[in-house]
Amino acid sequence: MMINLSKLIKREIKVLDLNFSEKIDNISYCGKNYRLTSLVGVNGQITNIDGQLYLDCNIKFSVLDSCSRCLKEVEVNIEDDVKAFIVEDEDCVLEDEDTIVCNGDELDFKNIIENTFILNVPERITCDENCKGLCNSCGANLNEEKCNCHNDEEFTDPRFSKLKDFFKND
Ligand SMILES: [Zn+2]
Ligand SMILES: [Zn+2]
Repeated sequence: MMINLSKLIKREIKVLDLNFSEKIDNISYCGKNYRLTSLVGVNGQITNIDGQLYLDCNIKFSVLDSCSRCLKEVEVNIEDDVKAFIVEDEDCVLEDEDTIVCNGDELDFKNIIENTFILNVPERITCDENCKGLCNSCGANLNEEKCNCHNDEEFTDPRFSKLKDFFKND
């Protein structure tokens, strides 16, 4: 997904409108493979401001992740505004400014989308704030069924029952 910047660099145009939807199947991050459930929508522009290229756009898409408690798949919406100067090589990276390095007169938008994902993906998601998760012993999904395990440790842990007796006798 390369954006050609040559017209902007040569100042044949001042503004390059970005208005497209792009299909990406997966994004890999931290050993996990996230499947996208929507196209990646990009809206904004790159402007040549006195010889400096400036990107200002909105990026929006959804991915599937799994609930950290019950492992059910949940759709997560990712959206962010990306504002950064585009420079031709690492040496030109501006201090105190967000910069993106382009490859000659080509800008690799896939990198920008992947970075947007990394910066915005929640660390842990839950399908519902009241998700009961999976039973520690039998793995049953406690949102859907009641299992026969004694989940209430107060009753199964012998140390607790002794304590209970203690209070009873007191
Ligand atoms: Zn859940
Ligand atoms: Zn169980």
